[in-house]
Amino acid sequence: MPESDTTPTLDFIREIVADDLKAGKHAVVVTRFPPEPNGYLHIGHAKSICLNFGIAAQFGGRCHLRYDDTNPTKEEMEYIESIERDVRWLGFDWGAHLYFASDYFEQMYAWAELLVTKGKAYVCDCTPDEVRARRGTLTEAGRPGAHRDRPAAESLDLFRRMRAGEFPDGSRVVRARIDMASGNVNMRDPVIYRILHAAHPHVGDAWCVYPMYDYAHPLEDAIERITHSICTLEFEDHRPFYDWVIDECEIAEPHPRQIEFARLNLTNTVMSKRKLLQLVQERLVRGWDDPRMPTISGLRRRGVPPAAIRDFADRIGVAKRDSTVDVQLLEHCVREELNARAPRRMAVLRPVRLVIDNYPEGEHEKFEVVNNPEDPAAGTRQVEFGQTLWIEQDDVRETPPPKYWRLFPGNEVRLRSAYLVRCTGVVKDASGAIVEVHATYDPASSGGNAPDGRKVKSTIHWVAADHAVEAEVRLYDHLFPAADPGAVPEGTDWKTGINPASEEVLSGCRLEAALAGVGVGERCQFERVGYFVVDPDSTAGRPVFNRIVTLKDTWARIEKKQG
Ligand code: ATP
Ligand code: MG
Repeated sequence: MPESDTTPTLDFIREIVADDLKAGKHAVVVTRFPPEPNGYLHIGHAKSICLNFGIAAQFGGRCHLRYDDTNPTKEEMEYIESIERDVRWLGFDWGAHLYFASDYFEQMYAWAELLVTKGKAYVCDCTPDEVRARRGTLTEAGRPGAHRDRPAAESLDLFRRMRAGEFPDGSRVVRARIDMASGNVNMRDPVIYRILHAAHPHVGDAWCVYPMYDYAHPLEDAIERITHSICTLEFEDHRPFYDWVIDECEIAEPHPRQIEFARLNLTNTVMSKRKLLQLVQERLVRGWDDPRMPTISGLRRRGVPPAAIRDFADRIGVAKRDSTVDVQLLEHCVREELNARAPRRMAVLRPVRLVIDNYPEGEHEKFEVVNNPEDPAAGTRQVEFGQTLWIEQDDVRETPPPKYWRLFPGNEVRLRSAYLVRCTGVVKDASGAIVEVHATYDPASSGGNAPDGRKVKSTIHWVAADHAVEAEVRLYDHLFPAADPGAVPEGTDWKTGINPASEEVLSGCRLEAALAGVGVGERCQFERVGYFVVDPDSTAGRPVFNRIVTLKDTWARIEKKQG
């Protein structure tokens, strides 16, 4: 990034917050992250989490974690638990400020009674279809229904009987009385309460009337004395109603201020909760935490460090116009973080045996190998060496293609940190595949240094056969190869865009002994191969690794092209 882009300027939301503080509007900044527990959090939510918790931290305020649990039919305990785990893992702390919108139902109900009493709301007996039919369109005003002029006392009585459970689902609603001819459809007497005889995951059977999101949300913010209520752009047209609710419910100043920003869209990624749920339910992935999922639990299992997600959120910033971010920027942030911190290890994913014929059989020695050239504090480790090694099939050819400088008969390469070896021949099976490679080593090249300074064009990695750890390695790629997986022709199922090769499972991989006791979640770089993390599927003595990202960073090139 050019120098000027990294100088800390305030984005438009932080500018508002800073101005409000300066003007003395609030003593403390209070933001909130308000997920509905109807699915797992994804990278889009991470943007909102980083923004809300980030602003609170920057301005010495606080950020609440609040479950926006007003729709009991889609919400579950499993989601509630996953959300807390995910926010904490991202590195944020809500302290004592964990709230449930459902804990405010009594207060919200009381305010709705106030609205009814004031003539600002009424009970409407229309069915949902009738309400919709009378709402009008963008160009056509809505038409008031017969119940709009119902006396307040009658509405109040009906509302209380709705609460008491006298009426079936869908038979009545409470609507705000605003303006059926408003240019803003959201102001045409929106529904604020509906009847729903459904148990709630947090408050159980306490209620059979539930507040609608647009009515509940401003009140949740008001109850918690939120100062800046940050939400995504699609709520811009809802803001007049947000303010209406707070004014008409006679909430004390200062009122929370709704500010909209552009949601995150990512290339090669589906982000809709509904679609993610489909992927899980139809078993097209391993679950919510499949390493190819854009969920936070998926990113965690994939091995993405939380610091990389926070860095990504910083770099994309916030804007007022929707756009799509290249997923390669996220991958770039992951590489930057891992390059600085991940220890280097040697691992052979598609092994073939290399026998060094002039190395004494049964003898072993150890070489000292640097753990991370980017981090001197990471130190060194001892790596076992012996006569028989595993090397990558791809690092040997019988007949080399042009510009191939790795092993082929007659050619000399460096075994990373060990010796120079010259290939003397290959052994093939009946199908012509190479099953064993033979070589001789130069005993004077210990540590991999040419004694006479002679040029060796390639350095390859290796694992001593007698000390190798066997592992399964899962190579991941984008679940959707298309930049815009949503853009499918009419009548085509978006799921046909899934790349079946986005997960490739390799067994019989050979790792250096230092990887024997690795714990789930540990990350490292397999030299020359990529960054990897230990998967929870690992068993004692047989680790499973997921590829986080390859080593090749295409972002810098893209950025340059974009100028
Ligand atoms: P739903 O349709 O279920 O409401 P949602 O994605 O809005 O889906 P919420 O649980 O309501 O899910 O979202 C919690 C918070 O995260 C909201 O404040 C929302 O604005 C924000 N958020 C959701 N998706 C994104 C996204 N792609 N980019 C940025 N913020 C997002
Ligand atoms: Mg939402």
